[in-house]
Amino acid sequence: MLTLKNIVKDYKVAGKQFRAVNDISLTLNKGEFVAIIGPSGCGKTTTLNIIGGLDRYTSGDLIINGTSTKDFSEKDWDAYRNNSIGFVFQSYNLISHLSVLDNVELGMTLSGVNQKIRRERAIEVLTRVGLASQLGKRPNKLSGGEKQRVAIARALVNDPDIILADEPTGALDSKTAHEILTLIQEVAKDKLVIMVTHAQQYADEFASRIVELKDGVILADSQKEPVVSEDTGYQANKTSMSFFTALKLSFNNLKTKKFRTVITAFASSIGIIGVGLVLAISNGFSQQINDIESDQLVGLPILIGKSEMNIGFDRAGASVFQPEDYEPDEIVIYDSSMDVHTNIITNEFITYLENMNSDIYTNIHYTYGYIPVILSTESGATELVNLDDVGFSSFITPEDELEEYYDLKDGSFPTNIYQVVLEIKEWNVVNKEVLDALGFDTSSELRFSDITGTELYIAKNNDLYVEQGSLFVPNYSDLETVKNNGIVIEIVGIVQAKDSTMTYGPTGLLYLYDLQDELLSVNSGSDICLAQETLDTSVFNLSLLTEEEKLGILSYIGCNSTDPYLIQIYSDSVENKTTIKEYIATYNADKDLDDKIFETDLAEAIGATLSTLITSISVVLSAFASISLIVSSVMIGIIIYISVLERTKEIGIIRSLGGRKKDISRVFNAESIIIGAFAGLMGISITYLLTFPINVIAANVDPSLASVATSNPLHLVLLVLASTILTFIGGFIPSRIASKKNPVEALRVE
Ligand code: ADP
Ligand code: MG
Repeated sequence: MLTLKNIVKDYKVAGKQFRAVNDISLTLNKGEFVAIIGPSGCGKTTTLNIIGGLDRYTSGDLIINGTSTKDFSEKDWDAYRNNSIGFVFQSYNLISHLSVLDNVELGMTLSGVNQKIRRERAIEVLTRVGLASQLGKRPNKLSGGEKQRVAIARALVNDPDIILADEPTGALDSKTAHEILTLIQEVAKDKLVIMVTHAQQYADEFASRIVELKDGVILADSQKEPVVSEDTGYQANKTSMSFFTALKLSFNNLKTKKFRTVITAFASSIGIIGVGLVLAISNGFSQQINDIESDQLVGLPILIGKSEMNIGFDRAGASVFQPEDYEPDEIVIYDSSMDVHTNIITNEFITYLENMNSDIYTNIHYTYGYIPVILSTESGATELVNLDDVGFSSFITPEDELEEYYDLKDGSFPTNIYQVVLEIKEWNVVNKEVLDALGFDTSSELRFSDITGTELYIAKNNDLYVEQGSLFVPNYSDLETVKNNGIVIEIVGIVQAKDSTMTYGPTGLLYLYDLQDELLSVNSGSDICLAQETLDTSVFNLSLLTEEEKLGILSYIGCNSTDPYLIQIYSDSVENKTTIKEYIATYNADKDLDDKIFETDLAEAIGATLSTLITSISVVLSAFASISLIVSSVMIGIIIYISVLERTKEIGIIRSLGGRKKDISRVFNAESIIIGAFAGLMGISITYLLTFPINVIAANVDPSLASVATSNPLHLVLLVLASTILTFIGGFIPSRIASKKNPVEALRVE
């Protein structure tokens, strides 16, 4: 069944060829117990390894059941070892981190025998070699004889035709040696047993045929008759280790070095923790910004103003104009007026707005160019309040939830249009010119109570403007009368914006939106308005007016309500605001740039600035943290390489049992994947736990930061994946190195 035909094996030693086996021809058959004897170094092991397919012959041929192995591929040899050969070694070669049972099962695992049958067969064979009671033990708990019995069981379990034993009794005392050889003789009766030994007496006692080697050639063969090979045909099933088996092998191996594994995983989890925390904090911040935008800022209106606005640059971005292309010596001329846009609010646009689906907005406020004339008696005399110095505007926030946007410092919020509040800044700051303009005495201490309760008077056009010939002049000489006939408003409270970004420039008085309507309705029928409406010249100085200038004057003195300079659109959700903006975009779609309407979303602008900031910070921090991820992959590479060195013998064993190169790299890839996944899980658990103290500390600094670190579950899953993939990459090269190891040399490693 087995024919060696002129087998030659050359080794290259220090550049020189060395012939270890020199033209050996042998025919061996089932049922034979062949002993190969000869002095040390004569080529016994080499011959045996060639027969077993562990080593390759240089020339000649090995014929198995009539099939030449000349054209065998690596996989064919792997299958051959797995199916047809059972190895028994002098040094047992058991895998120390697997139990007796698992050691015996390993060869069947490689050939894909299912778990149940595997177990049954392994137990049956172990019972035959007398180890039924030792199944769960680790090999290092057994005596030498017992270990060799396990090795015999492992060699038998796949029911191979050939048992190869290389000095199986070399490490045993003579009594145990006898027992082992008797066992081999008994269990392998119908097989071909080839045993290498240098003990003549065992050969004489147990072998049916003795082949004597010397210097790589056959010196003598006890079989004198020519032997005919009894060929029954050759066929072998390909082997393949399942990834699960690889995982189990590596998992068991890692279990034997728990401490190292945990430390390694911890070290490589630090990068994950770093990235995880950065992500958690940026996630927490973004969530908070979204919350602010949707809860706190959603009430802020979309603004459409007539005033100029810069559309050239990104609102939060660059301030330096960057041309697309220019010559090195060319001066780039930047015309800033090109970037400034003034919204032209036409009747068409207002009609378009009025036709907007009323479900998506809660209110639209129009503010006109009317600037009232206000009088104060605070200083003792009746004086004009200069509105260049004091802001006088309606609340931009929804009026039914003022307390959401403002802290009430004193008094109350307005409950009717004749009540106003003074807005102050952080730390109770009010600009001096504001207080001076309102008539307060800023040379001495001022208290809230000095301000609340103050009454102011808004002049009516008919009292203020006196007709003189064809002109109208303000009646500054009798302000007392103007005051007495004026509309009384009271400062009923002092407020401060909760979000300081809502307040820019000097603060001032805030009134309810409807006050404007009331003032416009009082003034629109005034004499000065009626006069100006019919004239093409100014009622103030008789100068000729363009249509636009006339409209300006009419607005300024409160005669009409057709020409808004600010439109505020209120909505109650971020989604609706988006729809409103889309609605405006649709209006713009077919307009020239000059006629387009640009809106400002305060809430979005506040949120966007913050988000951009946080995104950039997270990117930078993540990049730093990622460096540690790379460091840890390199570290994993080194650790796996050390593991390869430690497990070299195991590599040899798996190869001798028919494991493919691929299976070997699978074992080590499995090891790095286990470490990577474990490091990832450890990393995200620590990250998750760390978010609690971080939030507690952050909440101590500012209560609104109570959930500043919030891990996104998706990020956590991705981090475990990333850790697994990175360690896999780190361990990839060592795994390749492992798979390329020569099985014979791997087995020789102690
Ligand atoms: P033994 O009969 O003692 O088992 P071996 O078959 O192991 O002898 O070795 C036969 C000869 O081949 C020895 O001289 C040994 O040094 C040499 N040899 C074995 N393996 C190698 C190798 N991988 N490289 C070089 N020489 C080797
Ligand atoms: Mg040897």
